[in-house]
Amino acid sequence: MFTLVENGTVITPSRLIADGGVLCADGMIRDIGRGDEVRARFFKARGDKVRLKVIDAKKRIIMPGFINSHHHLYSTFARGMAIPGTPAKNFYEILEKLWWKLDHTLSAEDIYYSALIPLIACVRNGTTTIIDHHESQGLQSGVLDVIRKAVEQIGIRAALCLGASDRRKKGREGVAENERFLGKLQQQPSRLVSAMVGLHASFTVNDDTLAAAVAVAEKYKTGLHIHCAEDLADEKDSLKKHGMRVVARLKKFAALGPKTLLVHCVHIDEKEMNIIRDSASNVVHNPESNMNNAVGCADVLGMMKKGIRVGLGTDGMSSDMLAQMRCAYLLQRHNHRDPRLAFCEAPAMLLDNNAAIAAKIFGKKLGKLAVGAPADVVILDYVPPTPLLPGNFLGHLLFGMVDAEADTVICDGKVLLRGKKLVGINEELLCEKSRQLAARFWKRVASA
Ligand SMILES: [Zn+2]
Repeated sequence: MFTLVENGTVITPSRLIADGGVLCADGMIRDIGRGDEVRARFFKARGDKVRLKVIDAKKRIIMPGFINSHHHLYSTFARGMAIPGTPAKNFYEILEKLWWKLDHTLSAEDIYYSALIPLIACVRNGTTTIIDHHESQGLQSGVLDVIRKAVEQIGIRAALCLGASDRRKKGREGVAENERFLGKLQQQPSRLVSAMVGLHASFTVNDDTLAAAVAVAEKYKTGLHIHCAEDLADEKDSLKKHGMRVVARLKKFAALGPKTLLVHCVHIDEKEMNIIRDSASNVVHNPESNMNNAVGCADVLGMMKKGIRVGLGTDGMSSDMLAQMRCAYLLQRHNHRDPRLAFCEAPAMLLDNNAAIAAKIFGKKLGKLAVGAPADVVILDYVPPTPLLPGNFLGHLLFGMVDAEADTVICDGKVLLRGKKLVGINEELLCEKSRQLAARFWKRVASA
């Protein structure tokens, strides 16, 4: 079956095509260009007996689905959860009082519903690819199958991993789960799901676990997904325990490389930046989360100037990549007190660098509308109130499209959202079940 998305401004995003059209079939993009030309080519090649489904973009924006390079699907039940005692006064206390309690208590059913809710939010926000970092110290073995099931049910793409950690002496069990899941995916490949090897962070991972994780990543030719120097405490811990900074430690264990994701990098120094650049590792910036945890502002502009690939993630805060891009833009201007900064870099993190990261992790041309790319297409409900021209797209993106809702979302050729309504997903029912589970979960956390 052929589907033609037409009558909108196509943003590939390197090209802008007025009155454009995108032809999809079998989950791939088959043709792209001016709508009338795509139509003419289609009927010339196939005659008028082949069925063509047409999706009218009604003069809106036709874009590739967005990519989130660092998500935590398991964070759902933290929403509204009471945290007893005095408020957490620093990053480590936030982990101890909230996240580590939460992830130790999650059951398989909790994890499944926790994943469904943000996956639906991804669809609603036009995010069709995520790189997820899961943690559940109370249930590690088999847990990535549970998340895979949720991802395939909702229908977006996800690269999954379990963040192994030795804070409860379960690091090797965590690495084993990553290895099991990578092996299973090799046996039963998925059109939507890929995998990486997860580690929580240097300060909770001992040398044995780090070495084992690197060995698994090498065996399956994938990369590591690890929080890196999110807070100064990570650097201090590494200097104290290992006599070197975090990135130097990762280099020593051969954990770096073009498929490895170093998440945050708020407190890395110049030397560490050079190591990251020389190893072609990726950095993922999560500005909303960094501001929320009050850990500082990463020098992402300095990193990009050096040639480091800096992508953009939400760290579980939301599934809205446009809002995250605007936050990255505002934070750099605010932090440097310079209104000339980040106009090109913040959109580049989202549109160019996330696409480059996804290409390495998924082995597919994601985040681009091009012939031969997967059919991950979004219609954004944005009607330009001023001329939208090839040279002024970023102005529209940062100040207009950023607030636009997704009207239609297609992933792997399948329509997931049409006219802002979810297709084949009963969101209210899933939220009801999630609320019931969360209420019971909160009681278990309180009595733990
Ligand atoms: Zn994170």
